[in-house]
Amino acid sequence: MRLSRYFLPVLKENPSEAQIVSHRLMLRAGMIKQSSAGIYSWLPLGFKVLKKIESIVHDEQIRAGHIPMLMSTMQSADLWRESGRYDDYGQEMLRIKDRHDRDMLFGPTNEEMITDIFRSHVSSYKDLPLTMYQVQWKFRDEVRPRFGVMRGREFYMKDGYNFDLTKEDALHAYNRHLVSYLRTYERMGLQAIPMRADGGPIGGDYTHEFLVLAETGESEVFYDSAVTDLTFGDREIDYDSVEQCQGVLEEFTSKYARTDETHEEALFNEVPEERRRSARGIEVGQIFYFGTKYSESMGATVQGPDGKPTPVHMGSHGIGVSRLLGAIIEANHDDNGIIWPEGVTPFHCGIVNLKQGDEAADAACNDLYKAMTAAGLDPLYDDRKERAGGKFATMDLIGLPWRITVGPRGLKNGVVELTSRRSGESEELAPEAAVAKLV
Ligand code: ATP
Ligand code: MG
Ligand code: MG
Ligand code: MG
Repeated sequence: MRLSRYFLPVLKENPSEAQIVSHRLMLRAGMIKQSSAGIYSWLPLGFKVLKKIESIVHDEQIRAGHIPMLMSTMQSADLWRESGRYDDYGQEMLRIKDRHDRDMLFGPTNEEMITDIFRSHVSSYKDLPLTMYQVQWKFRDEVRPRFGVMRGREFYMKDGYNFDLTKEDALHAYNRHLVSYLRTYERMGLQAIPMRADGGPIGGDYTHEFLVLAETGESEVFYDSAVTDLTFGDREIDYDSVEQCQGVLEEFTSKYARTDETHEEALFNEVPEERRRSARGIEVGQIFYFGTKYSESMGATVQGPDGKPTPVHMGSHGIGVSRLLGAIIEANHDDNGIIWPEGVTPFHCGIVNLKQGDEAADAACNDLYKAMTAAGLDPLYDDRKERAGGKFATMDLIGLPWRITVGPRGLKNGVVELTSRRSGESEELAPEAAVAKLV
């Protein structure tokens, strides 16, 4: 992309409405525009990152054997009356009437709808196990929408649902989700720690939240610092293996790590004192096993091996896709702006032309742009007639991991400058060598 043809409305001043750094930087980098409280339009740069995050989520869900689908955002109130949640959900639910005076709602989550789909089409245990998921907009009329996309009212969520014949099978699905989530967050350059949590309105005894440690997090958490040494890394996992998935769950959840809702002082005190930590965290996901709660109230049964109708065991599993942008920025920035992890960066590399209009510099930039594109990289070329300082500031603000600076002086010696956004280190090298380094 050439910056002169792109839409990147960066702000020079700090917007006064932003209380935390990620919100401030998303506004300044021209990624989002608020349309009303907690509701945002995704401008091209923000949209690009949102889609990158979504695509990692899809990739890891499909790897785990889960099936993508898409449910409607609008739901009928009747389904929620069946589960009993129409009244329970309270004011967070956006209730709407259509022209025939029928009660509708904008989905805050989809347990009811997926259970309805399941009961309409699945009648035998032979069709199990089944896990389907979607990435779809949700609406929750939060009392206090704030921190930009972190606590929006309209937000993008991955929600997945498993249907199993037995509790044992459903717990395998739970473990599969835990593993796939660990991989997902790590690919985004994030450490998200699974912590024992509370069921809340979805209900259920088994649940873990995934938390990214950050001072601006809204959750209070308590943990054994040894959990922060755990990484999933590039190990291979067979998602069909009950033992392997269970093993990962045990490894990642055996140390003390809880949110304030489930925190137990006495247990915490058994952790060696030097490893006891209390901190703030951002909830970027949550997994639940809730048994037959919805299948019983909504009649989602299958014929079991014994020929008898059996309510299915279910769980639901969510990732805050749009919240993740905020969480990633909270964990990756400096005074000059965002520092995108390679896995989610909107463009791989910025090209800064120090002297737009100079024949040699323009030609070198064009060649670099072509070479990168041919190599499968997605560069952002700042071809505007601006002074160098302004171009550098924009590149630092939007946080591309690499910048190649091209100017007439360097070109006389056959070199351009390659700079790492994260380390700030630069090296001079031939243009082809710079491209080769990025591939
Ligand atoms: P919170 O405790 O932050 O209100 P939640 O527990 O109500 O979140 P879940 O029902 O577990 O949320 O939804 C799954 C994921 O969706 C959450 O882990 C979070 O990352 C994301 N999420 C929930 N509410 C919002 C929101 N208002 N804005 C953006 N993301 C959200
Ligand atoms: Mg909530
Ligand atoms: Mg929560
Ligand atoms: Mg939650």
